[in-house]
Amino acid sequence: MRGEEPPRQLVEAGRIAAMARDYGERLVKPGESCRRICEEIENYIRSMGAQPAFPCNISINEVAAHYTPGLRDDCVIPESGVVKIDVGAAVEGYIADTAVSVALDDKHRPLVEAAFEALQAVMRVIKPGMRLYDIGKTIELIIKKMGFKPVRNLSGHSIDRYTIHAGLTIPNYADRAAWLRRLSPGLTVAIEPFVTNGRGLVVEQRIVNIYAYRGKNPRTPLTSIEEKILSTVKERFKTLPFTPRWLVDVADADTLESSIASLAAKGALHAYPVLVEAGRGIVAQAEHTFYVARDRVYVVTSREQ
Ligand code: MN
Ligand code: MN
Repeated sequence: MRGEEPPRQLVEAGRIAAMARDYGERLVKPGESCRRICEEIENYIRSMGAQPAFPCNISINEVAAHYTPGLRDDCVIPESGVVKIDVGAAVEGYIADTAVSVALDDKHRPLVEAAFEALQAVMRVIKPGMRLYDIGKTIELIIKKMGFKPVRNLSGHSIDRYTIHAGLTIPNYADRAAWLRRLSPGLTVAIEPFVTNGRGLVVEQRIVNIYAYRGKNPRTPLTSIEEKILSTVKERFKTLPFTPRWLVDVADADTLESSIASLAAKGALHAYPVLVEAGRGIVAQAEHTFYVARDRVYVVTSREQ
């Protein structure tokens, strides 16, 4: 069993991720380039002495998660709807993951409130030993009370060093599969209610701008440029997710796109496709990273403690 306090690197990662999230929230304005916002947030994290733990995600309206601007595509903040800013900071591989939603108009404020309130409700009841089922139930109750649906196939997760999605899943609804699992001391977990006025499910799109090294090389032979890209990925990001935008010094856009797609097809890289709400409902999200000590649970990405 670990000690009482979260590791100092995690505390530092949490402090930086929280500041980057709040900084990013202020950059969201209709007409702004998503690429500019993401790059500002990523550079802010670097300037604070951490590494972006994954590319800044900026997912708009029915896009629920895993969108970051690609080498060629970009988006612009629309006049209305909901923008999710999801950021991560890593210090020596200790990762903090946090997100906020911005309502661009009054009509979408209740959806954003529901995600925020669901996370607040968890923060009020969370304690060591709690069933993951009860976390999901708390989230679902608040979201339904506010007239929306949780997104059932998006969930929180445990975090290990250099691993953003470790073994455990923290459901956003009363999932019987999570009945036996509990918050054990020493765990770092991200809890992230996703709320929608759509079907309550996400589906994968074909667009992929986020990848991660799988931790071992494939048996299939690699071309020399694939070798070069893969060794750069390992050296720069280890197993943390990255985006082709972070490799523009290694090869030109065409080469990067085809080589990275090939590395994913050969099993060297894990791909994170963009996730969209199945009924094209609008999605809001709120997220904090928590550290489970023996006697209490710390919120490492909150700015009020
Ligand atoms: Mn996140
Ligand atoms: Mn997360």
